[in-house]
Amino acid sequence: MNHPKRLFAGVAALALAASGAVVVVRARNGEEPGGSAVAAVATRATSPAPGELSPAEELARKQAIDAVLARRSAAVLKGDLKGFLASVDPKQAELVARERLLFVNLRKFGFSSLKYFTADAFRPVPGLVAKFGPTTFSTRVMMRYQLVRLDPRPVQTDLGYTFVQRGSAWVLVDDIGTDENLSRDGHRQPWDFDEVQVVRRGTVVVVVDKREASLGTKVAQVAEKAVKSVRKHWARPWNGAVLVVAMPQDRVMSTIWTAGTGDGWTIAAKAVTLFEGEQLGKPIGAPIGSRIVVNPALRKRLDKDLLVHEMTHVATSTLGIYTPIWMVEGMAEYVRCRSIEDDPHWSVDPYRKRVKSAYLPKLTALPDTTVFDADADRAYGTSWWIVEYLANKLGEKKLAALYTDMSQHGPSVLKKDTGLTPAQVVAGAKKFKG
Ligand SMILES: [Zn+2]
Repeated sequence: MNHPKRLFAGVAALALAASGAVVVVRARNGEEPGGSAVAAVATRATSPAPGELSPAEELARKQAIDAVLARRSAAVLKGDLKGFLASVDPKQAELVARERLLFVNLRKFGFSSLKYFTADAFRPVPGLVAKFGPTTFSTRVMMRYQLVRLDPRPVQTDLGYTFVQRGSAWVLVDDIGTDENLSRDGHRQPWDFDEVQVVRRGTVVVVVDKREASLGTKVAQVAEKAVKSVRKHWARPWNGAVLVVAMPQDRVMSTIWTAGTGDGWTIAAKAVTLFEGEQLGKPIGAPIGSRIVVNPALRKRLDKDLLVHEMTHVATSTLGIYTPIWMVEGMAEYVRCRSIEDDPHWSVDPYRKRVKSAYLPKLTALPDTTVFDADADRAYGTSWWIVEYLANKLGEKKLAALYTDMSQHGPSVLKKDTGLTPAQVVAGAKKFKG
């Protein structure tokens, strides 16, 4: 049966986390607030050098700026624009406009909690110091937040802010000049670009550019159907809460849209996992939830199948981080293909034929990240077929239980849960007719 070319969904949450880990964060001096400054102070004999602060002065500055940040988060929660802008340098029209837009965007998301606080101080940025004077202070600011009806617990991201002291007050004078110090998705959240439109439908929240509001409605309709499909074939409870970002800007959540080796291949969408700890290029703590980010170039051609694949990642991402990639992608492909064939007018026969004739004969082991990097089509296809085989053997309930066990305890539970070694699973999948 004829069907449009199915878009391959991209890198798994796990693979993404791994790629995040290799991003080097420049000048990560001082993991705890003021760490580097305190270390510098410790080497000093008695009085601070000119322009440097004593530990007590540093602490006072930190407390004063944290108080400013607390007023900003309270203002967002209350809807108090004036209170939010009170800390912003009124002499800079562009900065004020950016901050006003940030406030407008944040208000559209809805926070069940929001807290800004200072983290490590950045090295002084010469350009900013020259512009704003000797009290100029640049720091990482953590934004710890929980979106209403989306995040089960708070997650966090970072920002780079520069303050100066005017009289007794600390004033925000710059919100972009230290971005290079941030984690990969720092200051690249959906609310950090142009004005957005947030569309809610059922358990789904869709973010689009305000000028593309009708796209948001369309995506929300498709996404709601995708949630139903995932719930049908992923045999564990999932509340269906998901945020889909379909914005035109290409750096939202710092996503990169090609993968693999050589020329690579285009990624249509990604499920980005959020962890409870710091996001300094390295996930820390438990996975709390995820966002689906759609490739801007494909946002107007988004179909349900693609969202089903990515939503399977969302539904499973909080279980744990130890699921092997063949199971992560194979499961997402399994749910996608099942949901396509739930409609009797559609078939994945061409995909099935390609896997059986081109990929299975060469299958020798469960696909690992090397195979995914080298030949994505083959890796996704064979992983799908392996999971089809396991679903046929175990049923969807036991398959989901196997997935969950793997996500918490790693691939070694395969034998205990299925009675099969990896080699036996590969042999079984090769023979499986479907
Ligand atoms: Zn995937």
